[in-house]
Amino acid sequence: MTFQELNLNTPLYNAIADLGFEKPTAIQEQSFNVICSGRDMVGIAQTGTGKTFAYMLPILRDLKFSKQENPRVLILVPTRELVIQVVEEIEKLSKYINNRVLGVYGGVNINQQKADVAQGLDILVATPGRLYDLAVSRVLQLKSIQKLVIDEVDVMLDLGFRHQLINIFDILPAKRQNIMFSATMTEDVDALINDFFLNPEKISV
Ligand code: AMP
Repeated sequence: MTFQELNLNTPLYNAIADLGFEKPTAIQEQSFNVICSGRDMVGIAQTGTGKTFAYMLPILRDLKFSKQENPRVLILVPTRELVIQVVEEIEKLSKYINNRVLGVYGGVNINQQKADVAQGLDILVATPGRLYDLAVSRVLQLKSIQKLVIDEVDVMLDLGFRHQLINIFDILPAKRQNIMFSATMTEDVDALINDFFLNPEKISV
């Protein structure tokens, strides 16, 4: 399959051309139509398979961005390092899109992050604890979230974030698309899917 066959738009084609990618990876190919359809999805994929672009290509193609608003896309990842890496990947793909991506994580002063959030943004990449702290402080409004992506959910559950995740689900709009990636399908991951996902499409590479 080629990127042409994915039916992307010009800003995304141009960004991919600049990156020099030749064709979609297996997870990108298999997730694209599922994510475009709006269905919940669970992808079993390791790091390095191109999973960040697998969820960002359809999301960036289908949403309109303005930089001024409450975020409409929330991406939860287990660690600060991954927040930084995912923000970088999204920015590469957004080279010709006028959007604002913000990464927030714990272990640093929250006030600068509150000021950053207050400026308006489109896509938020966060660790669960800091996300929750920002949301309860009311600086961050989650009422416009349409897409929730949880990456490396197996690692997140191993780190003891289950209750934190459930608290976050509670404050997100009920009508949203859930997209989840895990390197392995563990009992804990399966339980989370059964409790909170609506008949998800499962993809494995
Ligand atoms: P990820 O699995 O999302 O951490 O991505 C692993 C690496 O693959 C990143 O450096 C991406 O920039 C790169 N990548 C993503 N999609 C493609 C592709 N279609 N062709 C070549 N490299 C890619």
